[in-house]
Amino acid sequence: ARHGGSNKILLFDSSNIGAYTRSLEIQKSFRRALSNDELYLVYQPIVSLRDGSIRSFEALLRWNHPKLGEVPPSEIIRIAERSGFIIPLGNWIISRALAQLASWHRDGVDVAMLSINVSAIQFLDGSLVSILGDKLRQYGLGNGVVEVEITETIAMTNVDESQAQIEKLKDLGVGISIDDFGTGYSSLSYLRKFPATTIKIDQSFTSELVENVEVSTIVESVIRIADALGAEIVAEGVETIAQFEVLQRMGCANVQGYLIARPMLPEKVAPFIEKVAQD
Ligand code: C2E
Ligand code: CA
Ligand code: CA
Ligand code: CA
Repeated sequence: ARHGGSNKILLFDSSNIGAYTRSLEIQKSFRRALSNDELYLVYQPIVSLRDGSIRSFEALLRWNHPKLGEVPPSEIIRIAERSGFIIPLGNWIISRALAQLASWHRDGVDVAMLSINVSAIQFLDGSLVSILGDKLRQYGLGNGVVEVEITETIAMTNVDESQAQIEKLKDLGVGISIDDFGTGYSSLSYLRKFPATTIKIDQSFTSELVENVEVSTIVESVIRIADALGAEIVAEGVETIAQFEVLQRMGCANVQGYLIARPMLPEKVAPFIEKVAQD
């Protein structure tokens, strides 16, 4: 089964425990999981459509739970947000990702940028800016090596706080990527208020790009808007060559998806970069 909808996972979970028990089990094992290395990050490349070079890698959370097996990240984040564990978890994700980036750099593995997902609560919490600042300093990482991915709804509902956070992140040289663009309550005035460095077209658009004229018109407009705003554009969830080619024709700068590569363990990143360089 796909690890997408949490309801499906609950229904077909082999241990067959109820949703409440499962949620409690997850909550009570958070701390152990952090110290035990049950949680880990995988990395998915985002590549340039112009020349096939690697633009960045997105860090994605994984949990190999001893009782529950692989727990989908959307479920982990939801429960962490409700139980108040999201700040320590979010800090752990940032620490782990930046330690990984520093280690790649030490080994001469050329990862130019990491994209790190940040939850709404974490984004609005002051600890985000301080942990990012601390870790960038600790590892001697400069400007433009990290961007945080936030969903548009976060910023929409907390305009003042969001603008303040974005200012602080910009001062740190951290980019802001609007994730799942087109699925929330986005508007043009909103994009002006939140000067994102990157806009990510949600995979629900990518998946209908080839068959649906309305969708392809919308995607093309979003690409033009990003250009006009000086933001980078990334199309998510690219699975087929047909989608790839339509995006290329539209002048979409970057793509991410199973067609290029699935999220991979950190040790697979260097071989992947080498393979891309040879192609
Ligand atoms: P997202 O940020 O939109 O991440 C993209 C999701 O699409 C990932 O699922 C990725 O594995 C999947 N994906 C990538 N390419 C393709 C493709 O070609 N086809 C399809 N069908 N799927 C593709 P994943 O890793 O299960 O993550 C799901 C969501 O969980 C993420 O959506 C994000 O909202 C959240 N998440 C994951 N890791 C983290 C994290 O470290 N922190 C936070 N706050 N949220 C995270
Ligand atoms: Ca994301
Ligand atoms: Ca996304
Ligand atoms: Ca998503």
